[in-house]
Formats: sequence, C-alpha cells, structure tokens
Amino acid sequence: MRPLPRQVQRLTDIVLNLNRLKAHIETLETKYHREKGSVALLAVSKKQSIQSIKTLADAGHTQFGENYLQEALTKMSSLTAYPLEWHFIGLLQSNKIRKIAAHFAWVHSVSNLKLATALSEHRPENMPFLNICLQVNLNPGDGRGGMAEEEVFQVAKACLNLPRIRLRGLMCLPLLTDSLNEQRQAFHRLQTCYQQLQNQGISLDTLSAGTSHDLEAAIAEGATLVRIGTALFGPRE
Ligand SMILES: *Cc1c(COP(=O)(O)O)cnc(C)c1O
Repeated sequence: MRPLPRQVQRLTDIVLNLNRLKAHIETLETKYHREKGSVALLAVSKKQSIQSIKTLADAGHTQFGENYLQEALTKMSSLTAYPLEWHFIGLLQSNKIRKIAAHFAWVHSVSNLKLATALSEHRPENMPFLNICLQVNLNPGDGRGGMAEEEVFQVAKACLNLPRIRLRGLMCLPLLTDSLNEQRQAFHRLQTCYQQLQNQGISLDTLSAGTSHDLEAAIAEGATLVRIGTALFGPRE
C-alpha cells in the first residue's frame, strides 16, 4: 500500500487516538471503580488546526477546550456548521471577559469572585447560563493562578447569587510531577474540597482535572472531565 500523505496520516491518527483514549478512559473507570461513562473527554485544541478539529467533529466529538480568545473565535467562526460546545480553559484577563462570556458555553479557569461576577454581568440575556468551574491552586505561590483551598467555599457560595452563571465544579491545572502517587495526592485534595462543598449544600457535578500527563491519577481521584490535548492531537504547532 502506498503511504498516505503526511497530513492525511496525521488526521487519521487523531481519530485513532480518540478511540484509543476513550477505551483507555473506560479501562481506568473500571480499574478505579468509577461508574462507566462518568468521565467526559474535553479535547484541548489550542494551537491545533481547524482541520484537526473538523476531523474530530466528523468523528462525532463535540466538546473542545481553548486557551486563547482570538484563536478560539477564528476557529468558532469556521466551524459554525458543527454543533460544538466550547470551553474556555486559559488564563482569564479582565479585558477579554466580555467576549468570553458571549462565545463560550463553559469557563473552567475562574480564579476569583471578581472574574465570576464580571462573567455573569457580561453573559448575554439570550444565551443559556454560562457554566463555570472555580480554579483551585494546590500549590499557592507557584504563580499559576487559582484560589487557595481555604478560599473556595466562600467564593463558591457567593457564585450562587450571580444570576447569569451556573457553578458546576472545580478545576486544577496539570501537576508538575511524573509520580502517580504525588499526582494522586494532589488530586485527592481537589476531590476533598469538591466533596466538602457538596456536604455544605452546594450541588456540583464537575471535577475538571487531568491532562495527557496525569489522566490516570485524575480518574483515580474522581475527575468527571479530563482535558486532553497532545495525547489526542499530537504535539502543538
Ligand atoms: C493545554 C492544557 C491542557 C492539555 O494539556 P495536554 O498535556 O496537551 O493534554 C489541559 N488543561 C489546560 C488548562 C491546558 O492549558
């Protein structure tokens, strides 16, 4: 058989990766006694081509995560033919809030109440509530954004009064360690935080944790949504 041209080869790889990842997630659900289908896959498409996203959309995938507003808006406008759900997972800057609130279904990276309030204020009336996750920093002082565990309850409670957003859960960034145990310990703290909020009467359904690098630890510790980029699309451009 003649080898496929490089570009086509890569696109077929993406669909293979999608199927492999779904199977892997299912295996991990079983291994860690998670309910089948309880872990959703968010395809992180930052710095990946529109063609790559189309390939996954044609394969039936609908949830995509983006980090950079302008890049995301360009992609959205070329993909309006597909019923995609866009999640903003990047650093939130206050001058970008208005457009983010108007174009995304979810924002995972809400790291303080001021940002949550601004998102609610700018969410257009004719759109459904904006789904948000609070970003928790398990390593305060590392400068990567997010609130400390001790702050989460207060911010979560205040979010319940914001009219145009719906608090869905918690999120944390990928961990900077290769040790499964250390990854699990950190995700365990996030999960504890999540359960404490629920015990205090705040109902949540989304624990956004885990990337290509720490998928297993995240599923072991209760993630309900994993955000996968490179393991799906290959290296970023
Ligand atoms: C880029 C990114 C991911 C995906 O990381 P991969 O290692 O490519 O799977 C997940 N979450 C956030 C917040 C990201 O910025």
